[in-house]
Amino acid sequence: MTTVLEAELPTQAATQCTLDNYLELPDASMDGRIAAARAKLGKQAIILGHHYQRDEVIRFADATGDSYKLSKIASQAVGKYILFCGVHFMAESADILAQPHQQVILPDLNAGCSMADMADISQVEACWDSLTAAGLTGAEAGGLIPLTYMNSTAAIKAFCGERGGLVCTSSNAAAAFRWAFARGQRILFLPDQHLGRNTAHALGLAPQEMVVWDPYQLQGGLTPERLRAARVILWKGHCSVHQRFLPEHVDLVRAKIPGVQVVVHPECRLEVCQKADVIGSTERIIRTIEEAPTGTSFAVGTEIHLVNRLGKRFAPLGKHVITLDDAGCLCTTMFRISPQHLAWALENLVEGTVVNRIRVSDDVKHWARVALDRMLEIRG
Ligand code: SF4
Repeated sequence: MTTVLEAELPTQAATQCTLDNYLELPDASMDGRIAAARAKLGKQAIILGHHYQRDEVIRFADATGDSYKLSKIASQAVGKYILFCGVHFMAESADILAQPHQQVILPDLNAGCSMADMADISQVEACWDSLTAAGLTGAEAGGLIPLTYMNSTAAIKAFCGERGGLVCTSSNAAAAFRWAFARGQRILFLPDQHLGRNTAHALGLAPQEMVVWDPYQLQGGLTPERLRAARVILWKGHCSVHQRFLPEHVDLVRAKIPGVQVVVHPECRLEVCQKADVIGSTERIIRTIEEAPTGTSFAVGTEIHLVNRLGKRFAPLGKHVITLDDAGCLCTTMFRISPQHLAWALENLVEGTVVNRIRVSDDVKHWARVALDRMLEIRG
């Protein structure tokens, strides 16, 4: 997707630097070019970097964070261009929250999220229709509040906003559940079953009060009786990075490193979270290690780039940080944002060409903004 928005700018054909030319070049040769282009753009541009980005990219970020923190920063940014080094749904959220004069750029349009892809808007609409037919959505049924994790498409965020629901992140999921339960009897939670289950469990809900809606089965694979007994309907989605961690990994690391603190992300399975010492968003994981005394060892269940970075950062402070499993797992879609893509996007901007702009349509934007604003107003 390529957009030239200002008539006085040179034409795209005349100016656009071809991505293929960049992809042939070594990573290290990008550093000087990224820094030079960044300096030329000055306050016109802000680079946001998610914690799971690789080192060669995140070192150029003006702000780093998880999707919650970055969505807040994006909503307060003043420059014209927001370069989002993250994945597609994050850039969409930035565009929804951005001011009219701002443009959001995703350096590689292939940087998606496998979890977000597990809930398609047409599947969610079909699910809602089924739940309505089962008599679960009306006021007589006590109300059903759709709640979506940030890791979902703009269309699904809008779906939730339009039906009285909201967006949450792993930082504020519990607060979002409380918000929803103050307004309805049941929650439809999209698209990560693990975050939904972990949050409901932490709030004291019993396993039999949760069901999993499988979009590939008739009626989600659930009987009307199971649905009526449920307080939380979990969408059958997951993160391929975090679902890999198993309870056995926790047992193994505890046997290997006495006293180790196990810190995991709430996208991990309930059985893993139940064995952990701390469950939290990437921001909470970082804070936990920052605040620990010298000599503490940590086994961390999250994306490997962040774990390795924490290992390097805290080793001089006498804190030992390793991945929870032996292999570690990278987020392959986050990894798509390379220094070459970042240099390409920045140098095109310097030339007056906007490449890879992420633009959410106005109708979707309106209701998605309602759902995001509700999230930004609740206390995390
Ligand atoms: S780590 Fe998982 S949830 Fe996060 S962007 Fe990657 S695939 Fe999506």
